[in-house]
Amino acid sequence: MMLTVDHYAVIGNPVHHSQSPWIHARFAAQTGENLCYTRLCAPLDGCAETIRDFVARGGCGCNITVPFKLDAYALADTLSPRAAAAGAVNTLRVDAGGLYGDNTDGVGLVRDIEGNLGLALAGHRVLLLGAGGAARGALLPLLQAKLAEIVIVNRTAERAAELAHHFAQLAAEVGCQLSGGGEAVARGTFDVVINATASSLTGELPLFDACALGANTLAYDMMYGAQETVFMHYAQRHGASTADGLGMLVEQAAEAFFVWRGVRPESVSVLAELRALLGRK
Ligand code: NDP
Repeated sequence: MMLTVDHYAVIGNPVHHSQSPWIHARFAAQTGENLCYTRLCAPLDGCAETIRDFVARGGCGCNITVPFKLDAYALADTLSPRAAAAGAVNTLRVDAGGLYGDNTDGVGLVRDIEGNLGLALAGHRVLLLGAGGAARGALLPLLQAKLAEIVIVNRTAERAAELAHHFAQLAAEVGCQLSGGGEAVARGTFDVVINATASSLTGELPLFDACALGANTLAYDMMYGAQETVFMHYAQRHGASTADGLGMLVEQAAEAFFVWRGVRPESVSVLAELRALLGRK
């Protein structure tokens, strides 16, 4: 059946837990944009088919979540520079010329840290834990934030080293020192430690040297939920202040809304409402 209002969706597997329909409904009400946003659970081997079917029925765009960001990257006809750099797509827009792929995760992270949490990143040292899709998506916006240094640490050390190598030229251009490897490559205390691993999903702590954490460190877990994560508790015990990824979720959604509608929603009140809805402070 063809869709009558402008229709958007989040496509993933699983996707029932996604807060995106709620967030975009708030954005639409706030901006007066006439749209509808739903969840679509794609079969694990059927992401492309689900997207094509959605587009054929008149869908205007979609968010892509775990585990399909690489499939969406492969399916896009054109890419934004940040999606091309990340090698992953979390936002698709249906254009006259085909599917436009973007990645709003990294800019969402940086806006949450700088805007919502009030920490200007320029000149700071960041320890980035993880080398998967979320870490890749974060690197271009982090480099554009004029950091002094980024160290990438990953369980599989070679993936962190490869990621550092992939972004080496850009890092040199913006004057940011960039390295990657196993836990031994991170030395001293960092201003920001970002957990971009999936370890919090299983209640585990990623391996890294606790010396990275100090009283002036912001320990940021991209994961979010009703409870604080093991990583956040560990960081608090080492004197750091902490944040979860709920702000990143809302900010990446606000950027996706802008990509689709050309209108920038106000995100701060939506984040506060969502936090209250989830019973979080
Ligand atoms: P990927 O599957 O692409 O990457 C997973 C990464 O986590 C890899 O670096 C992997 O290491 C590492 N990892 C997995 N399990 C463990 C563990 N037990 N201990 C240490 N490292 C581990 O996932 P994504 O990058 O897409 O997502 C990562 C996290 O970011 C998830 O928690 C996701 O929910 C969150 N996220 C949040 C967003 C938000 O808006 N707040 C947006 C996007 C992601 P290895 O290479 O060794 O396998």
